[in-house]
Amino acid sequence: MIQVSRPKIAILGAGYGGIMTAARLQKEMGSNEVEVTLVNKHDYHYQTTWLHEPAAGTMHHDKTRIMIKDVIDMNKIKFIKDTVVEVKPDEKRVILSNGELEYDYLVLALGFEPATFGIKGLKENAFSIRSVNSVRKIREHIEYQFASYNNEADRRDDLLTIIVGGAGFTGIEFVGELAERVPELCKEFDIPRDRVKIINVEASPTVLPGFDEELVEYGMNLLERKGVEFRTSTMIKEVTEDGVILGENEEVKAATVVWTGGVQGNSIVANSGFETNRGRVPVRKDQRTPDYDNVFVVGDCALLINEEIDRPFPPTAQVAIQAAGAVSKNLLNLVRGKELESFTPDIKGTVASLGKGEAIGKVGNKKLYGSTASAMKKVIDNRYLFMLGGPGLVWKKGKLKLF
Ligand code: FAD
Ligand code: NAD
Repeated sequence: MIQVSRPKIAILGAGYGGIMTAARLQKEMGSNEVEVTLVNKHDYHYQTTWLHEPAAGTMHHDKTRIMIKDVIDMNKIKFIKDTVVEVKPDEKRVILSNGELEYDYLVLALGFEPATFGIKGLKENAFSIRSVNSVRKIREHIEYQFASYNNEADRRDDLLTIIVGGAGFTGIEFVGELAERVPELCKEFDIPRDRVKIINVEASPTVLPGFDEELVEYGMNLLERKGVEFRTSTMIKEVTEDGVILGENEEVKAATVVWTGGVQGNSIVANSGFETNRGRVPVRKDQRTPDYDNVFVVGDCALLINEEIDRPFPPTAQVAIQAAGAVSKNLLNLVRGKELESFTPDIKGTVASLGKGEAIGKVGNKKLYGSTASAMKKVIDNRYLFMLGGPGLVWKKGKLKLF
């Protein structure tokens, strides 16, 4: 029997965009229609949207992890655990740390990395909330500072000072978790709560710039009551081994600096020669790159313009998951010689957690506060698990206690 070679699809990255593209393809492709390979650094997918919790130590990082083999049928989709080093789009090849991969169609889904804006000392001296490995380091580091405090003759307060740089959604969700965790750490390490400082520094005049003012006020008041100090209209200019240098050359000593000041697309994309803007590819309406008809981009590596306001959609899991549906469909359209469809994100709303049982959010025109918003956030999280792995995954990894 003559074996006809099937078109090869390679998906790089198994975050929201990549794993959902693979999951949708495995459902929708015909048997023997295409050969799909998924490449990821780890053999697990993690819930990036939960990472502020293990970073603070309010959740174990294993709860955020889902083994790829548990949600992807390895008989239908080939999985390679490896690190992408470079893509050579003109040669239709991907260079991995331990080999190479050839493709006919490619999906770039390598996610985000911290945007450092050239701030001196940031890369060397600040932590970032980016992956399971990065947040494990933050939690361990903070615990070590607390454990060290009573061992130092002069009881240095900077050991107990945590600076969070940037009060966008990541910064706010992280200080919300820290406010929960710090009283536990104080108890564990015999430290008075008033020695500990959580300082959230924000360059804009307000935290969560652009978000609903009433909700922002509610969130700020709540977090201030829990001991978070906000420094708005204040730029972090430099991060040193001892802390940060702020706007007017003010030094704040802190043993822990966590940068949540913005993200950009994975630099592998720009380094591979794709056209980018802050690391993100300005994709066509069908999610393909401007230059390559066989390369799609999904998630935080894609720059999508919201035509209603002529500004980019913020890079979110919500958009990545929706775009994955469109990309999987368009991949099969392309293979089948059909017309490709346009994709426009349908933004349902935004909900930000503020620690245990508290959140703020806007869903449609409705504003949500407190425990209602917090329950809504858990419903959103569980819905994703349901889409990826059905009720079994919700049961295993979901946030089942809504209130
Ligand atoms: P990612 O989730 O970053 O996944 C990228 C994948 O690629 C990872 O699995 C990684 O291991 C893999 N990878 C990276 N580099 C390589 C390489 N070289 N080789 C192989 N594999 C590689 N958005 C929302 O919509 N709602 C929220 O509530 C929300 N909360 C958030 C909370 C936090 C703390 C953070 C940091 C972000 C949050 N976001 C939220 C934003 C959201 O997490 C991102 O938009 C989303 O993760 C983007 O998905 P992605 O698939 O593009 O990338
Ligand atoms: P962001 O870009 O949204 O916020 C970064 C913040 O840092 C901004 O407010 C900015 O003014 C500030 N900043 C930048 N440089 C600074 C400096 N030198 N000094 C002080 N402040 C500085 O980034 P993010 O919060 O990491 O969010 C990334 C993406 O993930 C966004 O699209 C966001 O919507 C999404 N996200 C969503 C949720 C949610 O829906 N609950 C949670 C987290 C993240």
